[in-house]
Amino acid sequence: MKLPFAESWKIKMVEPIHISTRQEREQWLAEAHYNVFQLKAEQVYIDLITDSGTGAMSDRQWAALMTGDESYAGADSFFRLKDVITRLTGFEYVIPTHQGRAAENVLFSYLVHEGDIIPGNSHFDTTKGHIEGRKAIALDCTIDEARDTQLEIPFKGNVSPEKLEKAMQEYADRVPFIIVTITNNTAGGQPVSLQNLREVRAIADRYGKPVLFDSARFAENAYFIKTRESGYADRSIKEITREMFGLADGMTMSAKKDGLVNMGGFIATRREDWYEGAKGYCVQFEGYLTYGGMNGRDMDALAVGLDENTEFDNLYTRIHQVAYLAQKLDEYGIPYQRPAGGHAIFVDAPKVLTHVPQEEFPAQTLTMELYLEAGIRGCEIGYLLADRDPVTRENRFNGLDLLRLAIPRRVYTDNHINVIAAALKNVYDRRESITHGVRIVWEAPLMRHFTVKLERCNS
Ligand SMILES: *Cc1c(COP(=O)(O)O)cnc(C)c1O
Repeated sequence: MKLPFAESWKIKMVEPIHISTRQEREQWLAEAHYNVFQLKAEQVYIDLITDSGTGAMSDRQWAALMTGDESYAGADSFFRLKDVITRLTGFEYVIPTHQGRAAENVLFSYLVHEGDIIPGNSHFDTTKGHIEGRKAIALDCTIDEARDTQLEIPFKGNVSPEKLEKAMQEYADRVPFIIVTITNNTAGGQPVSLQNLREVRAIADRYGKPVLFDSARFAENAYFIKTRESGYADRSIKEITREMFGLADGMTMSAKKDGLVNMGGFIATRREDWYEGAKGYCVQFEGYLTYGGMNGRDMDALAVGLDENTEFDNLYTRIHQVAYLAQKLDEYGIPYQRPAGGHAIFVDAPKVLTHVPQEEFPAQTLTMELYLEAGIRGCEIGYLLADRDPVTRENRFNGLDLLRLAIPRRVYTDNHINVIAAALKNVYDRRESITHGVRIVWEAPLMRHFTVKLERCNS
């Protein structure tokens, strides 16, 4: 018989976790004002709030920590990290930073100015923040298909070449660069095809503009290219990453995702002018050029993490687990954004909690119900996260209202996935009885979801 799937690693160290009682969770959630960001981690059984910085390092990574060189300038660790990055991307200039948003801050301080327009697929929140904070515009040119949660296409993260071309025709003189986020996080961890990266490159070349990749999940993107794009099945992940980055001028990276470390990031580029321009901002905001915001030992762990996570087996294990959760939800008929992305499943909350009006925040209500059911902490990516319209101060109900279940890398087993799916099914089975959501008691003017205080509408 065909051997079943199993993880491409075995476990050397464990961290005990405990399930609480429903009564305890009721009390803790009320004390947290129904905001799961305000829970203590010890009050959580399975934590799916994010896949950022929550992965497990390998024995090789832990061993690499011991070889860290903490020299202020020119540390060996920096050169080991730089060599791996150059090997995977072809970029010879590398600036370490303490995380992804710091890489954006350093590079954009040089590249982005008031009145600029930066087109690309869905800009990540911090990317948008660093653009808008400089009084520039992040112009979303993602394909329209990304907005239909039930449509199954292989590369739902793509840039629309038509929208990009139109943007360039209108605004080329205001565009400092084009940005492509791989995978497209905001659209649900959806990949971008090499074909699409080539189309973006061709448009950029026609207008003489550089291309930047926001690369937090570049390895997962390469996995999808290998498994979904014709002509790549026999290519290694490392060959594919070289080809991807061959179409860019540079990258910003949150190493907390595909770098398999808990903290870290970097800028890498082939352009000497970008490196020269960003250098001073690195020193000003992060630290000297050969450590940026990172310890020597952490650069070593990252060098190993990047190498490991661009091997097929590691990526296959990961993406298989996300797809396994999706398959369970299919079995139970629970609607989520299709097809399953690389790092998370996004449950379509208004399609589940059909009796909870949008004014009472269905995705937040579903997040609460899943926590109460089994101590599982997901994250609302919906109407709360969308904040209010800056002008009218009305809630923004025009986007999607999703419960995100982000899967940390190499942390949970498929047994945990079974628990997650079963807990969600239990909530789904009693969905008709969930008729009330929550109302806001207190909120911050911006980024309210982290600190918002809520109460139940039926209390
Ligand atoms: C996480 C992320 C960032 C920001 O990185 P941090 O390490 O959290 O600062 C930027 N872009 C994308 C696509 C991300 O997923």
